Amino acid sequence: MPNPQQHGTPPQPGRRDFLLASAGAALLALGGLPQRAHAAAPRHALPELPYALDALAPTLSANTLGYHYGKHHKAYLDNLNRLIDGTELTALSLDQLVVATAGKAAQSAVFNNAAQVWNHNFYWKSLRPQGGGEPPAELRRRIEASFDSVAACRKELAAAAVAQFGSGWAWLVADGERLKVVKTGNADTPLSAGLKPLLALDVWEHAYYLDYQNRRADYANAVIDKLIDWDFALRNLG
Ligand code: FE
Repeated sequence: MPNPQQHGTPPQPGRRDFLLASAGAALLALGGLPQRAHAAAPRHALPELPYALDALAPTLSANTLGYHYGKHHKAYLDNLNRLIDGTELTALSLDQLVVATAGKAAQSAVFNNAAQVWNHNFYWKSLRPQGGGEPPAELRRRIEASFDSVAACRKELAAAAVAQFGSGWAWLVADGERLKVVKTGNADTPLSAGLKPLLALDVWEHAYYLDYQNRRADYANAVIDKLIDWDFALRNLG
């Protein structure tokens, strides 16, 4: 089971349980374990980038987005569709697929690619041109209740991005009423741990190396200061 590194109480049942139940029901209706049964059109599609490739420059260059979105993200998507093609896993939504395959050794390739597709879909929406700045008032209140200040939240998010050893992700999540920063390794995602993701920061080297080389902290701080979409985080709070 993916294990986001975090402090505090264990995640409450909720969205994960719902996804697990619906994924389980879908598989049960299909006769249990996935088997390669028929050829099908690719189940999942690459979502359109919500802005132009050069819209996040100079913080993130068009070159970075071209490779990150057009090569890395697309490769995860193509791998996922290839892995599930003709199997009953095509019946599951992307969310259900991530939760249903999390922690299952026999499904690790499907999980890794599905989770990376999910994480990248979410990452692009976590950013926007002329982002950063101050969160909207409602989100600010929630942040201050959990972190004391917006500055402390920003600092903790950047610290998690830097502290994640190797490839992975830093996240702002909701754990019930409380907001938290967590980090996950490789493809792991808070979604499968029952947490509600609000914002994602990709800290795989492919996210920053062309623009920042080994300076991950500079990348994280620049993205948080100039690109993060606090309105997206507020919408995710629901
Ligand atoms: Fe990435």
